[in-house]
Amino acid sequence: MADLLLDVQHLSKAYQHNQILKDISFQVHKGEVVALLGRSGSGKSTLIRTLNGLEPFQGGTLAFAGTPIDPTPATWLALRQRIGMVFQSYDLFPNLTVLENVLLAPVKVAKRPRADAEPEARTLLTDVGLADFADRYPRQLSGGQKQRVAIVRALAMHPEMMLFDEVTASLDPEMVRGVLDMMTALAQREMTMIVVTHEMGFARQVADRVLFLDDGVITVDTPAEAFFTAPPTDSAKAFLASMNY
Ligand code: ADP
Ligand code: MG
Repeated sequence: MADLLLDVQHLSKAYQHNQILKDISFQVHKGEVVALLGRSGSGKSTLIRTLNGLEPFQGGTLAFAGTPIDPTPATWLALRQRIGMVFQSYDLFPNLTVLENVLLAPVKVAKRPRADAEPEARTLLTDVGLADFADRYPRQLSGGQKQRVAIVRALAMHPEMMLFDEVTASLDPEMVRGVLDMMTALAQREMTMIVVTHEMGFARQVADRVLFLDDGVITVDTPAEAFFTAPPTDSAKAFLASMNY
């Protein structure tokens, strides 16, 4: 088995008295692509945010590449340099060009010399067809282009794992494909990824494994092909039916 990257044991998290994540345990190994599925409100975003140190949690342990993740700001900051995250809403800085958006974290946070970071940023943008957009501002881009920039911005930090939370959910239909293709290419290059998505065809194509969340509990952890061929619980069946899949 490849190296263990993410180790989640008995994770629980509540907002006030509302228990959102309940005794969640799973592992992700280097190079694995995990689709995190479940109906709206099941806790997917909360789990993703907790994994990236954006949320405190009350029970259990989290470790990334052997380093325990304790809920302190210093740990969170270090962790966020190793785990890239892209949300549904592209939170690019509106007052910075595409290139400056991509360079901000590598130069300011990772302290890499601009002379190294800039050619790499331009290469990353070229790879996704955005070379000509380097000097534009986010408002001059389509939603799909902005989301591709957001992914490039995360990749510029050389993350060891990427978390995607419904990154195509707010895009116009004709913009979705380009973003999915970018994630597919990443998966093919063995990026370790956890992907929350409503795109079942895409999930089936790229994921090695499916984690299915049911009201804060992981009720299914199975190879992706098995999940889609024969959803193992009634809830998973109902979910796939609701996705018209
Ligand atoms: P999903 O991403 O699967 O749709 P979420 O993780 O967003 O689910 O939400 C899971 C549950 O946690 C929901 O009941 C939601 O209302 C609740 N929740 C999410 N964020 C907060 C918050 N900041 N404060 C209180 N409750 C929240
Ligand atoms: Mg969500």
